[in-house]
Amino acid sequence: MAAVLTERPALAHPKPGPARPGVRELLASGRRSYSFEFFPPKTEAGERTLWNAIRRIEALAPSFVSVTYGAGGSSRDRTVEVTKRIATETTLRPVAHLTAVGHSVAELRHIIGQYADAGIRDVLALRGDPPGDPKGVWTPHPQGFAHAHELVSLIRQLGDFTVGVAAFPECHPRSPGWTEDIRHFAAKCEAGADYAITQMFFQVEDYLRLRDRLAAVGCLTPVIPEIMPATDVRQIRRFAELSDARFPEHLARRLDAVRDDPAAGHAIGVEYATAMAARLLAEGAPGLHYITLNRSTATREIHQNLNVN
Ligand code: FAD
Repeated sequence: MAAVLTERPALAHPKPGPARPGVRELLASGRRSYSFEFFPPKTEAGERTLWNAIRRIEALAPSFVSVTYGAGGSSRDRTVEVTKRIATETTLRPVAHLTAVGHSVAELRHIIGQYADAGIRDVLALRGDPPGDPKGVWTPHPQGFAHAHELVSLIRQLGDFTVGVAAFPECHPRSPGWTEDIRHFAAKCEAGADYAITQMFFQVEDYLRLRDRLAAVGCLTPVIPEIMPATDVRQIRRFAELSDARFPEHLARRLDAVRDDPAAGHAIGVEYATAMAARLLAEGAPGLHYITLNRSTATREIHQNLNVN
């Protein structure tokens, strides 16, 4: 790992520490939040790719960047390590994803304490899915939490954190129906969530309907839509299946037609996501959260096409 650290390219703004306001303050001031999501890499080559992407995203001065939390073991340690490095060695504001999977409450307290010690004040509180088979039976840790709202409460008790949660424009696949889904989402907000980020989705109407459903029960917590550039039909179908997102057939057909031409696929994915993002902003979305898959090109292009910030 140390070898990788020294090979990291120079940052655009080498001033350490998170210089940006938190999402809570940003959204409260009426400004929009633009953020980018990374995952902890498994290899040294992956580490270099990640830090290259982080360096390029840093130049865009996003509101925050987030790092996903793995299903277990070393991947989780890497999440903590990458998040702390972003906090201490870049000008970016990191949001740490944290799940309740396989953790006792004592372990969760310890991880949150580690973040606080590193000056990290932003956590995305998630329940997570069963490791191995994300669609398998959910069994909470015997001394842990069954649902995300409990994790939100714990983080709130432990300090002055800004807390985000997950929202599902197509309804969480485990919810019996919309009524329960909205009630459980509202419980996360009542427990202290400041904002939410959605699961990936590909039709703006799904986001707008979710927002209407939340407004109908008086839940006005800002919900930031997630933007996933669909540039490769095989990859995106796999992701969409894992997350139960409906992938539009007309887009699949366009991407299928150019499946052996990555540049054409890239152009289609960027064009579709740019149009979707522009419409979401026009409809009043409080920001955008881009999935980078640790490669910044497509999301940077979309963000630059929008000409916002
Ligand atoms: P919850 O809010 O607990 O909801 C899970 C299910 O339980 C829902 O069906 C809900 O309706 C139901 N429920 C909630 N409360 C109750 C209750 N009191 N009684 C009965 N049922 C209830 N996963 C990772 O492993 N790592 C990540 O880094 C990660 N990042 C994500 C980022 C975003 C933006 C999103 C949208 C998802 C992310 N996920 C991640 C996936 C997430 O962990 C899964 O989608 C998980 O299935 C749901 O998590 P949740 O926090 O929404 O859980």
